[in-house]
Amino acid sequence: MKRVLNKKMNSFIFFVLAFVIMIGIFNYKVLKVHGYPLFRKMQHELILYRTKDYNIRETEHFIIRYPMEDKEIIDLVAEASEEHYKEVCDSFDYYPENKTTVIVYDDPDELMKNASLKQGKPPMGVYFASTIQILSPRLWIPENEKIEDVFMNEGPMVHEFTHLLVDDLTKGNYPLWFTEGVALYQEYLQTGYSWGEALSYEGKPYTVEELTDDFNQLDVMLAYKRSFEIVKEMVERKGFDEINQLLKDLGYGNGFEAVFTK
Ligand SMILES: [Zn+2]
Repeated sequence: MKRVLNKKMNSFIFFVLAFVIMIGIFNYKVLKVHGYPLFRKMQHELILYRTKDYNIRETEHFIIRYPMEDKEIIDLVAEASEEHYKEVCDSFDYYPENKTTVIVYDDPDELMKNASLKQGKPPMGVYFASTIQILSPRLWIPENEKIEDVFMNEGPMVHEFTHLLVDDLTKGNYPLWFTEGVALYQEYLQTGYSWGEALSYEGKPYTVEELTDDFNQLDVMLAYKRSFEIVKEMVERKGFDEINQLLKDLGYGNGFEAVFTK
């Protein structure tokens, strides 16, 4: 059974790759925005396969998968997932066609593996291949704090769900700093949480070029802070429609630099 399935999966991957390479030969821009959703779909199916034995809880817009028995936590994740769904989707005027997969882990190693994270400290949440993968808040919220309050107000749901919307709308065509900035801005809109307020720059804040070209090489906290500020400034000057127009242009496969300077 397992071997048959793997064989099927291999030939599926082969055909998808052959298809994508063919399109790519014809047009790089087409490859960027049409090939990517296929790759993402493959990764998504693999994650679903790896978590196929997990328990499932369905809400109106989310399907939550989890390996452990922990009703209190799953109730909380279900509530937090739905809490700002409408407001977030309304601001992008985009509502995903399918329910969003959320995976809750009580083992950080599983999260690292399924989210393709190679190193570093396991994050409380991560967006990857159309899934929101989070650690059980029991693993990161201290016992003396009220788990509901912390998870609802500082938890990862709005942030990671925003990454999913940005990824869908742009078909993967965006620099990292931009999706982080938009996600942090949505957090700010929905929960009032203002990222990095207490942090100050030593010297000049990062430029858009630095953020675009070297995001992973920069100081993480300051790079996130700057990303949030740039998006916030854009919205305050021109409204959230400006962000939506940018996302739309990126979704057509246009380069970020050209779209952003426009
Ligand atoms: Zn993020």
